[in-house]
Amino acid sequence: MNTLFLSAAAPDTALVAADILKNGGLVAIPTETVYGLGANGLDEEAVAKIFIAKGRPQDNPLILHISGPEQIELFCHHIPQKAYDLAEKFWPGPLTMVLPARDTVPKRTTGGLSTVAVRCPDCDVTREIIRLAGVPVAAPSANISGKPSTTTAAHVRHDHDGRIAAIVDGGACRVGVESTIVDLTEERPRLLRPGGITPEQLLEVLGDL
Ligand code: AMP
Ligand code: MG
Repeated sequence: MNTLFLSAAAPDTALVAADILKNGGLVAIPTETVYGLGANGLDEEAVAKIFIAKGRPQDNPLILHISGPEQIELFCHHIPQKAYDLAEKFWPGPLTMVLPARDTVPKRTTGGLSTVAVRCPDCDVTREIIRLAGVPVAAPSANISGKPSTTTAAHVRHDHDGRIAAIVDGGACRVGVESTIVDLTEERPRLLRPGGITPEQLLEVLGDL
């Protein structure tokens, strides 16, 4: 496969990347945390390619990247007010929320779980790609499983050149560490993974964690 290298600054990059995603291909996308390896999160066959390219175990769930809080209810249900409060304060940004998944989200994306992780990345080109694709983009960190997360396009190229359809170069990731993950499926919010948003910041909104 001939991997396309697309600069985030080029005018047709978002359109080209969105087209690839709509057609079931893989695109490495920049975010403020780390580079993601993206596919149409609603297309099981496309999502399967992520697991193969990364060598990722099938039961390790993916994060669904969405273009804003208004998309949460398309893919989640039983959404507590806390989720909207967190989105209002930290999105777009390095916070991922785990919520009950709607049936529209394939089990392949959730690693077989009935919940799904959602996040709105703070990266203009990537949100534009998601909007133009018209689908949520399932994306784990772009590194090969077991290796450090990728924070530059060159690093992604090293791992995936010739193995995925395209890499969008948005420069070095500003935050450089993974998103914080908070589980909102139960009464009391749970911190599942530390990351770009601190527990103290979360507590300002949640009151309990
Ligand atoms: P990565 O993007 O490579 O950091 O991987 C995403 C991580 O998000 C997974 O390894 C899980 O730790 C977490 N995650 C994704 N979906 C869920 C979920 N439904 N429930 C709990 N954790 C999740
Ligand atoms: Mg990872």
